[in-house]
Formats: sequence, structure tokens, C-alpha cells
Amino acid sequence: MKFSAYPINDILKTNIQALGFKKPTDIQFKAIPAILKGEDVLAIAQTGTGKTAAFAIPTLQKLLQKSSKIRHNGVRCLVMVPTHELAQQVKQSFQEIGRGSGLNIFAIHGGLDQVPQIEKLNSGIDVLVATPGRMFDLVSQGHLNLSLLEILILDEADHMLGLGFIKDIKDLMRHIPKKRQTLFFSATINEEIKKLAYSLVSNAIRIQISPKNPVAKNIEHAVALVEMDDKRFFLENLIKNNPDLKMLVFVRTKVRAERVMKAMERVEIETDTLHSDKEQNQRQQTMKRFRSGSLKILIATDISARGIDIPNVDYVVNYDLPDSSEQYVHRVGRTGRGTQKGQAVSFCSKEEQEMLTLIEEHLTEPIERIEISKGDYQLVKDLTEDDSKDWRKLMKDAENPTFKKRKKKR
Ligand code: ADP
Ligand code: MG
Repeated sequence: MKFSAYPINDILKTNIQALGFKKPTDIQFKAIPAILKGEDVLAIAQTGTGKTAAFAIPTLQKLLQKSSKIRHNGVRCLVMVPTHELAQQVKQSFQEIGRGSGLNIFAIHGGLDQVPQIEKLNSGIDVLVATPGRMFDLVSQGHLNLSLLEILILDEADHMLGLGFIKDIKDLMRHIPKKRQTLFFSATINEEIKKLAYSLVSNAIRIQISPKNPVAKNIEHAVALVEMDDKRFFLENLIKNNPDLKMLVFVRTKVRAERVMKAMERVEIETDTLHSDKEQNQRQQTMKRFRSGSLKILIATDISARGIDIPNVDYVVNYDLPDSSEQYVHRVGRTGRGTQKGQAVSFCSKEEQEMLTLIEEHLTEPIERIEISKGDYQLVKDLTEDDSKDWRKLMKDAENPTFKKRKKKR
């Protein structure tokens, strides 16, 4: 079935065509009719399979159908997401699909000046994409009217219903009408969260398009056993052997992000970092540069693990293993989006072996190992004189191992 055959407004069809979407993805094929019918939906499908449009297309259609109603100063559809970057991205998807429809689409999140946001809210909003923190500030200050909400969407639903956000979401329920449509979308879910999701709605239908192994099939992923202190040499090696690739490097903490950036600086590799200690405008600049490709290597914490859709990320590197197996699925899912292929590699130290086992259990199969012989391992370390600027010379020396410099004590 093509989008042109859908019972949706021509404006939406034109915009979908302009985006280059010819036919719906599996999740779109299944979810769109159910949402149009007014069902509550819990939809699970792998990363990069077009879940955003799967909820945006029918939502916009429903809002358009009823738009003859007098515009009020409330919000008609609320989309909750975990991070600033995802709020901007999801807003943009709604705007692209809804262009020219007259619907008012807006995003609010922390780090932005409140005043212009408040002004905008007063004019009534059809689709509001929001992170929980800023949204509650505005609700408690009386600037946000959710009492007429028609549709609630939780993107990255398992995360939004997880420990960090569940209190906010439960609070939210007190501000919105009982009679509404609720949609949950994610690439991962567990039994406990599923129960929680069902408890928030009347009769959700579940749409699941995922094989046993939740890692999207376009992603080739492997693990290399690397000592904690040697990880930077292996990252340097990977980048220098693949100078044209766009890479997203995940680390465990903000501090580590900055340290890895510094380590790469010493060997003249340009990188930038993204984490929650950075100023909003810096975050936006960095994302823009990474999206456009002028920045090739981005070092990020898990704030970039969920939902972010950046074109042409060739490689995801788990410099540190994530602290949950779900997060592994989301991190590697930043590559291999849509029909593209992607690669991921995880550096696993002795200390992280246990986590690796948990991840493999979750994936229901072992992750391929990159075999590194002792000699090759040592070579990577020897090549990476991070106090020397003369990489070329080192490469030359390496071609002639007899004259190879010994690695200095660091
Ligand atoms: P998910 O939320 O499932 O991880 P996204 O909604 O971010 O995935 O979509 C992944 C990519 O696929 C986006 O770049 C989006 O523009 C593209 N996409 C979505 N639907 C289609 C479609 N029907 N045909 C082609 N590309 C699509
Ligand atoms: Mg998504």
C-alpha cells in the first residue's frame, strides 16, 4: 500500500511525498490505521524504522479532521520525549509532515528562555513536544493548559515510564482528561513497564514488530576486548584508519566525554562533546555540525542514545559499555537508520565483562568478537604516542617494527 492510498488529507500526502517516503514502513503500516480509528496503542519496533511518522501522520490527520472546532488556548496533542535534542527533532518531523496545514506545532524544553515560550503557548497549540521538566514548570506557573488534551504520546515510552520520569508522568495524568487517546512508542520494553503502560490507559492494543533480537538488522555490531586504560589508543586507531567516517562515540559520564575529547586533541583528532553540562546553544551548535557532517566525531553520554536520527552516522562506538542492555540497543541504533547500513563496536574491559554478558542475554545471542592478537594489540599501543604530534613518522616507524619506539610510561 502506498501513502497515496491512505485516508488522509492531501496536504499530508504531499508533504510525505516531498520527504521521499514512498511506502509505509512495517510499523507505520500497522500503527497508522489503529491510531486513525482512535485506539490506544503500544507500539514496539526496532530503532530507525520510522516510528516518529507512525504516530505523527495519523495524529496530524486526526487534528485536521477536528480543526473546525473553535481554537482554544490549550494543547490538543502532547508528545513527551526525554531530551532537548529529541524534542527539537520530533517537532521538526511534525512540522515537515504538517507543513501548510495551519496546525500550530511547538516544542518546549529546558535551556531555552521561558518568556517567548509562554507567549507562544497563549495562542493555543495543536501539537506540543516537550521534555517533562520544563513542561511541569509551565503547568505549575499556570501557563500551560492541558485540560483539553485529545492525544497523549510518549515517545521512548519505556524510558519515559522508567525511574527517572515516572513520577512526572503520573503527575501529568492529573492534569489531562481521562477521555483521550494515548500512544506509547519505543524500540524496547520490558514486562514491568508494559504493565505500567497498560495501567495508564483503558484498552491499549499492542503492535509489536520485532524479532527476538532487538538490534535492528541493518546494524553489524561487534565487541573488542580492550583494557580500560588502552581504550583511547583503540579509538584513535579506529578513527585514523577510517578518516572519512562519521562516528558517534558513547562514554559513561560527562567527565569522561571531556577527557576522551582531550585525549583525541593530543593526537590531533578533532571531536566535540554532547552532554547535559553543556550550554543549550553549544548543544544546538554541536548537533548542527554533526548533522551537516562538518563535525565527524561526536563524543556523547547517553543523552544522545535515544531517538536521535542523524543522517549517515557510519559507526557507533561504545567507548564504555552502557549500564543497561536496553541502552545498548538504543545506542547502536543511532546508525543503520531507515534503509542505511551501520556498524557498531564496543570496547569492553575486564571490569565490564559482566555487563557484556547481561547485554548478550538480552539480545538472546552472543555479540561477534573482534579477535585482536597480542602483537596487534601491542602495535596499536605503540603506534599511539599521544604526546607526539608526528603521527606520520610513527606510522613509518611502525612499518619497520625493529626500530619501533617503546611505549612511554604514562
Ligand atoms: P525510529 O523512531 O523508529 O527510531 P525515526 O522515526 O527516527 O525512527 O525514522 C528513521 C528515519 O527513517 C528517518 O530519517 C525518517 O525520515 C525515515 N523514514 C520514516 N518513515 C519512512 C518511510 N516510510 N520511507 C522512507 N523513510 C522513512
Ligand atoms: Mg524514535
